[in-house]
Amino acid sequence: MNIIEVEDLTTTYNGHTAIKNISFKIEKGEYVCLIGENGSGKSTLIKTIVGINKKDSGKIIKNIPPEKISYLAQNNMIDLNFPATGKEIIMTGVQKHKCLPFYKKEDYKKFADVCKLLNIEDIINKQISDLSGGQRQRIMLARALIRKPDLLILDEPCSGLDVNITKELYNILNKLNKEDGLTIIMATHDLEEIKTIGVRVICLATTVKFDGDIKDWKGEM
Ligand code: ADP
Ligand code: MG
Repeated sequence: MNIIEVEDLTTTYNGHTAIKNISFKIEKGEYVCLIGENGSGKSTLIKTIVGINKKDSGKIIKNIPPEKISYLAQNNMIDLNFPATGKEIIMTGVQKHKCLPFYKKEDYKKFADVCKLLNIEDIINKQISDLSGGQRQRIMLARALIRKPDLLILDEPCSGLDVNITKELYNILNKLNKEDGLTIIMATHDLEEIKTIGVRVICLATTVKFDGDIKDWKGEM
């Protein structure tokens, strides 16, 4: 089953074309990486899919309810210097639109599960502004995962993080994909990491330049 279908999608910013005539289908359980140089349209494509950006033309068909999709925005785009603890931020990930912000017992169970999964029990009660980049990113990943999504969309989740943290995050994502069948769409520059995982890559340069197994990608952007 296709979890998402993108047909002939074009998005512009005040007349500047950021992505043009993009088409692809993603099946449930796939691990797909969006690659391409800076400015090639990866974030625009992701933001158009999640509904932050308005498309100019084309179609996006999602065969999945909105509450089963989680999105983790590009690292350096999020300002986390406001007074909130890791726990407070993670818990907002279970909130449903148009519902009052009260948490149920089962929400706290989900919270405990995700903390264990990401090994963050020791940092959840600290202020987010006091955490390192890698710790913050684990909090943000926990926020995305707490609602147990079927589709996880990440925009360069490891940019600016050191090698060991990066490897750890990729291991977690790979495990979620292989063991739990989580569908992943991720913009990334970490080619060495994704080569070892073995993923489908969609290489962008405003349009789709390549779509296939990373093993068959010849390296041109
Ligand atoms: P990537 O994520 O691959 O680096 P982006 O989707 O951010 O690429 O950018 C694609 C193109 O759209 C670039 O030319 C960029 O300058 C432009 N762009 C991105 N965001 C905006 C914006 N908010 N306003 C105007 N132009 C933008
Ligand atoms: Mg980007």
